[in-house]
Amino acid sequence: MDEQVIRDIVRSVLSGKTEAGVKVPIEVSARHVHLNKEAVLKLFGAGTELIKKRSLSQTGEFLSEQRVKLVTHKAEIANVAVLGPERGKVQAELSVTDCRLLGIDAPVNLSGDLTGAADLLIVGPNGIFEAKSSAIIARAHIHAAPEDAKRFGLADGSRVRVSIPGKRPVTLDDVSVRVKDSFIFKMHIDVDEANACGYEDGMAGTILGPGHIGVSAAPGSSGIVYCEKLITESMARELIKTHEGEICVSKTAVLTPSAKDVLLHAGVNVRRVG
Ligand SMILES: [Zn+2]
Repeated sequence: MDEQVIRDIVRSVLSGKTEAGVKVPIEVSARHVHLNKEAVLKLFGAGTELIKKRSLSQTGEFLSEQRVKLVTHKAEIANVAVLGPERGKVQAELSVTDCRLLGIDAPVNLSGDLTGAADLLIVGPNGIFEAKSSAIIARAHIHAAPEDAKRFGLADGSRVRVSIPGKRPVTLDDVSVRVKDSFIFKMHIDVDEANACGYEDGMAGTILGPGHIGVSAAPGSSGIVYCEKLITESMARELIKTHEGEICVSKTAVLTPSAKDVLLHAGVNVRRVG
């Protein structure tokens, strides 16, 4: 991760530039898999390609005609959607409910990050593909094109809080922002999150501001830059549960003496960035 990029992210979050109250349209991602060439050939036969059934909201992405079955030692889920185009790596995006049913322990990751991903078997009409380290629970995220990101003060890799209306309104505290030229401004949640709030078609979330958990330095990177201006003892106690070794905080962040104590005793080093 480039120092300048970290600095830009920290500055944008610290300045409170993330505009509160921005509405973002929400879409629900049902369970699906992304396949690579090898998996497509194995599952559907030599010479096969994914056949587009309909385009998805993000440019170039599509739902294919093909369907697969997911199998573990404990259970199976049939009729699972395959999204195209083919990717470099096979990835299954499941809900927590799916993972419980399948008896697997998958991490909550951004799409593309297979750190700690769970194993399963993917079954197609032509064969079985052993998908090692492929299953994740997709982290809720917002897609934004650079101009939207700029307009709303959203930095790539930052995390925001989003409130979702519905029969049982929910606020998600740790929603990742992804910025790319081809992206259309949408928020993606999974079926569990959708059911939790009583999602209905056409719903929009409201961005409340920077997430309280922090900003990830980059997708897939281990460096988390904490954006809080003040780090208290109780926050430090939360941080040491999930971090060993080191946390990154902005250069201007203030740590209370008791927060410093907690981190010191846990052997967690505090690195200043920005
Ligand atoms: Zn998405």
